[in-house]
Amino acid sequence: MTTKKMFIDGKWIDAISGQTRDIINPFNQEVIATVAEGNEIDTKAAIAAARKAFDQGDWATTPATKRGAIVCTIAEFIERDKEELAELESLDTGKTVEESRVDMDDIAGVFRYYAELADKDGGELIESPIPNTVSKVVREPVGVCGQITPWNYPLLQASWKLAPALATGNTLIMKPSEITPLTTIKVFELMEEAGVPAGVVNLVLGSGNTVGAELSTHNDVDLVSFTGGIETGKKIMQAASGNVKKIALELGGKNPNVVFADADFDTAIDQAMNAVFFHAGQICSAGTRLIIEEKIHDKFVDTLVERVKNIKLGSGFDEKTQMGPLISAEHLAKVEQYVETGKKEGAKIAVGGKRPQDSALKKGFFFLPTIFTNCTTDMTIVQEEAFGPIITVETFTTEEEAMKLANDSIYGLAGGVWTSDLLKAERCAAAMRMGTVWINDFNVYFPHAPWGGYKQSGIGRELGKLGLEEYTETKHILHNLKPEPINWF
Ligand code: NAD
Repeated sequence: MTTKKMFIDGKWIDAISGQTRDIINPFNQEVIATVAEGNEIDTKAAIAAARKAFDQGDWATTPATKRGAIVCTIAEFIERDKEELAELESLDTGKTVEESRVDMDDIAGVFRYYAELADKDGGELIESPIPNTVSKVVREPVGVCGQITPWNYPLLQASWKLAPALATGNTLIMKPSEITPLTTIKVFELMEEAGVPAGVVNLVLGSGNTVGAELSTHNDVDLVSFTGGIETGKKIMQAASGNVKKIALELGGKNPNVVFADADFDTAIDQAMNAVFFHAGQICSAGTRLIIEEKIHDKFVDTLVERVKNIKLGSGFDEKTQMGPLISAEHLAKVEQYVETGKKEGAKIAVGGKRPQDSALKKGFFFLPTIFTNCTTDMTIVQEEAFGPIITVETFTTEEEAMKLANDSIYGLAGGVWTSDLLKAERCAAAMRMGTVWINDFNVYFPHAPWGGYKQSGIGRELGKLGLEEYTETKHILHNLKPEPINWF
């Protein structure tokens, strides 16, 4: 197996230390690739390349239309290589190939969206109160961007950062999660093929404590954009303070899914499952806190339990599989620990709560889809992000109580509300302190709408026009067309 390399200053290179890392398939623990394992020294080289490309290269001043065309070509290449990318993503993450295909369509869509936006902002003329002056506001690239991504949606999260950074003329260094780098490596090949100049995009592979920490700390990095867990996010904020980097943080979520008795019952059941069990619950916006109106609680839970028992676990490459494994042995142990804590704190397991017994699954990091009833808002499993296939159920009797429960979290990423009362739906959407609220839907997103969190779910927004603006600095230029002496001194 040949070692997959890093991409620095337009060249594919091994780690300076010569170290490598094995990448394993979470379904059967087989080694699927060996990749270079970079460290601080490789990261410094990548930062130097990105700095030089920004300060001395012409990417930032390349006409935006041309940059947009290159970003569009990347989208076309992703569509061309969709099947290969989808299979690679499923091998690396364990998710079903069908889910990965949907991801690839979304990813191509993100590149297209930002390709089209690249040349749409020509600045803004401001009405100047001073005679004979012209006042305008323009947006310019931030500079050198460090981009750090997680393992759950490896290429999707990377695309949310790569496409807007390129469209706006920045240079960048990307560090994908050390456990799922394969599709990101492939997309760097596609970016090279699409004609992105040397030094503009750099890829360093390696751990968070080395590569990630260097990117967050280094004085030549102007912005660090991070998607991952809250504790890592806090470390990055501190590390970035040295040179007052701009920071963009997409952190965790503990998302409420509020179901009123007047909701369409069958659809709410379907979506309560989709909200969590896609990708085995390893979704930042998973609707893990199910908050049900008391009078439909028993029927809702009984129906859900029956449906959940039939979820088919297996290989992401088997068409019948509905849910794959968790990402790693370490993560499986963490999810199991949360379940034990839930039991100790008094929650009741209605279904699941353990690893499956099926011998065909024994090499994979599988955990059964799990529903906890009798939950209260103070419980650890209701408050902390387990990031596994676990739903906790709480109940309410009034709308006010429902909203209090929904907002009782340090997080504020997303949430859903189910009701046929349109006024109530709008009232709840306004009351929910989250970056995204779905009414009679869940986990829907597209490139045109901003994504990000209130409270401790993060800082800034990705996607939409705001996701482009994250990668720009705003400059006001005042041009005095008729300068005159002022004789003050
Ligand atoms: P993580 O925080 O462990 O790791 C994320 C990335 O940060 C990895 O590349 C890792 O190597 C790197 N990293 C680790 N320590 C670092 C350090 N000290 N300095 C710099 N970088 C460091 O997160 P994870 O387990 O990979 O991903 C799961 C988390 O991501 C969940 O909390 C989930 O909610 C969150 N997430 C959020 C969104 C969103 O849009 N808000 C999307 C996807 C995932």
